[in-house]
Amino acid sequence: MKWDDTSVHILSHTLHYGTGVFEGVRAYKTPKGPAIFRLKEHTNRLFSAADKINIKIPFTKDELNNIQCEILNKNSLDEGYIRPIVYLGNEGLGLRAKDLSVNVAIAAWEWPSYMDPKAKEKGISVIKSSHLQYENPLHSGNKIIGTYFSNTMALHEAIDSGADEAIMLDKNGYISEGSGENIFLVKNNVIYTPTTDHCLNGITRQSVIQMAKDLNISVREQNIKFDDLVQADEAFFTGTAVEITPITSLDGKHINDGKKGQVTNQLQEKFQEIISGKNQDYDNWLTYSK
Ligand code: PMP
Repeated sequence: MKWDDTSVHILSHTLHYGTGVFEGVRAYKTPKGPAIFRLKEHTNRLFSAADKINIKIPFTKDELNNIQCEILNKNSLDEGYIRPIVYLGNEGLGLRAKDLSVNVAIAAWEWPSYMDPKAKEKGISVIKSSHLQYENPLHSGNKIIGTYFSNTMALHEAIDSGADEAIMLDKNGYISEGSGENIFLVKNNVIYTPTTDHCLNGITRQSVIQMAKDLNISVREQNIKFDDLVQADEAFFTGTAVEITPITSLDGKHINDGKKGQVTNQLQEKFQEIISGKNQDYDNWLTYSK
């Protein structure tokens, strides 16, 4: 459908109660045409999130994967952002509504940069958020629409205070993640990132852990205190939107003298090679749309 012709009924259950799931996927320009980064992993996560909230997606994974390739080709997009969303219909009203239709929409558009284009070099500033992440373990690790309310509040709080992003803590007081990113820190050349008990197991997170191991850099997944971040040599966010973005200021204080760190840089360079189709070792992370 054309952009302006799309619509959702105002009584969609999902609009009222957040009962749906979504993904954020990205395609990159490569010498072999547009390539979707880790498409299968994104689609698997979409299905497992739907499963967690008892929604049965009325399509196969292959069907959704093929449509995501097709949508790029039909729109002549060399690169861009792809947003699959699964939402419930309006056949019944109220919380108790049953047997609602399950609908899937997939949109794609050009999307050059999520933050300031200079963020990947200059780094960004973050604050400790007053909003907690995932109080209910059922929601941890799933892109369930309703759970994004607190992420949105956390991001607004950060922006209102003049920062670029928020760091959310979990209910035990450990670092969880950004509003739409996973967090990593580097101390004495070892990389640390929170376990996935209270954060989304980001596809970029998983990719960065693999890349770091391949570069012989140790990675430890463990509980991280806010103070560990204050003391870090380097810190960075990962995510489909931000890719790998250095964090150079925390609650107004510099990390690594306000500069991008060396480990962050090494990972960024490797990531760039992979997504642009220039590293054959990771070619199975790309799905070519043509
Ligand atoms: N955490 C949250 C809350 C997110 O919304 C995202 C974006 N999907 C991430 C982390 C990063 O995940 P990914 O690398 O799969 O984009």
